Amino acid sequence: MASMTEPETEPRADPGAERWDNWAGNLGCDAARIERPASEPEVQEAVRSAARGGLPVRVAGSGHSFQPLVATEGMLLSLDGLSGVLSADPDSGLARVAAGTKLHAIGEPLHEAGLAMQNLGDVDVQALAGALSTGTHGTGRTLRNLPSQIEALRIVGADGEVRVFDASDPDALDAARISLGAFGVITEVTLRCVPSYRLHETTRRLSPDEAMAEADAVSRANRHWEFWWYPGRDFCEVKTLALTDAEPESVAEERWQRIDWSHRILPSVRELRFVEMEYSVPAEAGPDCFVAVRSRMQERHPEVQWPVEYRMLAADSAWLSTAHERDTVTISLHQDVLLPYQEFFADVEPILLEAGGRPHWGKLHNLDANALRARHPRFDDFVALRERLDPERRFGNAHLEKILG
Ligand SMILES: Cc1cc2nc3c(=O)[nH]c(=O)nc-3n(C[C@H](O)[C@H](O)[C@H](O)COP(=O)(O)OP(=O)(O)OC[C@H]3O[C@@H](n4cnc5c(N)ncnc54)[C@H](O)[C@@H]3O)c2cc1C
Repeated sequence: MASMTEPETEPRADPGAERWDNWAGNLGCDAARIERPASEPEVQEAVRSAARGGLPVRVAGSGHSFQPLVATEGMLLSLDGLSGVLSADPDSGLARVAAGTKLHAIGEPLHEAGLAMQNLGDVDVQALAGALSTGTHGTGRTLRNLPSQIEALRIVGADGEVRVFDASDPDALDAARISLGAFGVITEVTLRCVPSYRLHETTRRLSPDEAMAEADAVSRANRHWEFWWYPGRDFCEVKTLALTDAEPESVAEERWQRIDWSHRILPSVRELRFVEMEYSVPAEAGPDCFVAVRSRMQERHPEVQWPVEYRMLAADSAWLSTAHERDTVTISLHQDVLLPYQEFFADVEPILLEAGGRPHWGKLHNLDANALRARHPRFDDFVALRERLDPERRFGNAHLEKILG
């Protein structure tokens, strides 16, 4: 059953303002206007109208980020009306998808064309452009994050004009893969897909030592491997997903196993509201880093019951990727949104930083632009391109000023 988290209620500065809250309920904003364009020309008109009125513009996806990336007192755009798989070509493997499409609405149309997304994260409720814009990823040591699946993007810029980012300018495309909404409004995404594939999911309960001992070999033998460590009882739930041609019914009677097409197997349903901090560390630092996080939690935070997730991610070329040019292990801490988490996260964060960690752009962390610059080799290039594309900060907000400078 879903927890009944009430969003924080703050006094409204402007009685005409429209309220927006994120999924977790840890943040929200009062926007001067919320617009719901249903076509690219309507997005262009909304951006131009915001410019005429001197309003900043931010776009909301599904509000599944824990950082105030969406928050604005200006114009907030919801792209829920810009939804659907526009085309899917099994020969080229390319699919054009409207930017506001929820991930769960992409799987079946692609499957009907014999295609699938190469990987998905833990849930599929995010808007496609929202998931891409913060570098959302799943697990699998040979699999890259979702933005790596982008072949092309259409973005409405600060002047209201549409720019296409594609292989004709690979650098600009690598910049735009993870853009935090800072380059403009993404209206359409061309995804490079793979042929539909079935996965055999197996979940096992192991001790942390057993999980770490098998990590290297078992993660090589399966397409996906990850674990959740439960601190209270100190065990790991290890999930492996292997490619299979077997029918779903072949494991129907067995506990802890499932077979189905990838888009039905990969996403979980998360109903309890939580907050999260996640860092990506170099793959070789992952095991020691997890051991240090576990010790810190056992010694100083025995009250935390929410699990720690340990995943693998292949290196990619996106400028702001947490896996930029390095194979990666991601370590995620969770806490119930109604319980104190600041001190817990702040106490574990130095361990993740010490290991060379880069924080997930959509999740909680305490870094500012200077600290992030030191961890992202292409940070200054991204900031310079942003300066060129949006010198007046039409697409800015307070959080972007903090993390991008
Ligand atoms: C339950 C849960 C599970 C999660 N699981 C994972 C996981 O497995 N892996 C992982 O990496 N992360 C995960 N996340 C984090 C989540 O995927 C990211 O925070 C993601 O960005 C949220 O997508 P959204 O559609 O909700 O976007 P929002 O949070 O609404 O927005 C995110 C950013 O995208 C921008 N944006 C949205 N649409 C557009 C557009 N059309 N044009 C330009 N900018 C746009 C917004 O302005 C903002 O900057 C999870 C979060 C939750 C709450």
